[in-house]
Amino acid sequence: MFTYTGLTDQQCQAFTQFAEFLRAENQKYNLTRITEDADIYTRHFADSLEGLVLMDQDGPVKLLDLGSGPGFPGLALAIARPQWQITSVEATGKKAAFQQQVAELLGLTNVRVLPVRAETLAHAPGHREQYDVVTARAVSHCQILAELTLPFVKPGGQLIAYKGPDIDTELTQSKPAIKTLKGKIRAVHAYTRAELAQKASLPTPAEDGQMNLIAVNKNGPCPKVYPRAYGQIKKKPL
Ligand code: SAH
Repeated sequence: MFTYTGLTDQQCQAFTQFAEFLRAENQKYNLTRITEDADIYTRHFADSLEGLVLMDQDGPVKLLDLGSGPGFPGLALAIARPQWQITSVEATGKKAAFQQQVAELLGLTNVRVLPVRAETLAHAPGHREQYDVVTARAVSHCQILAELTLPFVKPGGQLIAYKGPDIDTELTQSKPAIKTLKGKIRAVHAYTRAELAQKASLPTPAEDGQMNLIAVNKNGPCPKVYPRAYGQIKKKPL
């Protein structure tokens, strides 16, 4: 059974069911390398929920999670914050279909899963600069990620990038891209796997590891040409 500080029993039950379904479906097709319950609870669930430290605010939040894979952090945030509206964008059809099944299984009415690419969606009027928060975990280098995500963020909103241990070089390299897209790095929140385990009432893992969340504020509208086609973003990152 998953437990987590601040969540109701019903929410913890939803997470537990999510883990069971993830393990079952993972045997059919490869959705995640993480398959032990304790690892799913810390590395997927508690890690996804750590973002709340930077994004919890009063009132409803319109959030887009880009490149959500099997649903992280998007679906985890949807369970934890039922009053928020979550749009989960995942280009790979089988992963998006898995998320849709999870949403149905758990009766999540605050999630829509879109099986599309960010570069296309970010130019659609209903999505461009429409979100209070955009999240992305393990999607790409911040230099590329900035172009894929910041066009979705409302001026005044923020991007939360979930990153691993070494971010200094990546942040330095990404500053010009973030600036061009009208973003500004606001905060970095560092945390450890041991802290995640503690919040989920699990024993301290043998192998610890540091992770970082990067919060980027959006100060004005992005130039209309961004995001470019993916080939161009990769070939000539901002
Ligand atoms: N966020 C998840 C998955 C990370 S893997 C997690 O942390 O577990 C990165 C995912 O991003 C892949 O599933 C890939 O299909 C998706 N992705 C990468 N680029 C994308 C793009 N431009 N548009 C939409 N999805 C993308």
